[in-house]
Amino acid sequence: MDCLFCKIGSGEISSEVIYEDDHVLAFLDVHPISLGHTLIIPKIHAENILDLPEESVGPVFSAVRKVTGILKESINPQGFTIGINHGRMSGQAIDHLHIHIIPRFEGDKGGSLHSVVKNPPKEPVSVTRERIVGR
Ligand SMILES: [Zn+2]
Repeated sequence: MDCLFCKIGSGEISSEVIYEDDHVLAFLDVHPISLGHTLIIPKIHAENILDLPEESVGPVFSAVRKVTGILKESINPQGFTIGINHGRMSGQAIDHLHIHIIPRFEGDKGGSLHSVVKNPPKEPVSVTRERIVGR
């Protein structure tokens, strides 16, 4: 399969790796929006979190925690924004799951996750709940 992140995960294409284990690779984004902007990818190909095998979910999330700690210790930001662009509509550019860890610094001109979308529903959340889980 011709997947950029599969090739980075296997080492076929080099990257600025900051953490690696049997399941994941964490490397610096080549177009960082913040100092230390890191991507974590599973080494197996999965397009998104719904495509990720259950047994890989724990190791991937555990790596997110470890790498956040590594970044805290080394570059000491005031906070982090951690997230996934899932699907073209949300801005996913590479069809291989990647979790962004974005270090946050005072005055970085960023917002919270609430600033990503401005599309509040017209219905009350109780109705939304019924849509999702039934009555
Ligand atoms: Zn892939």
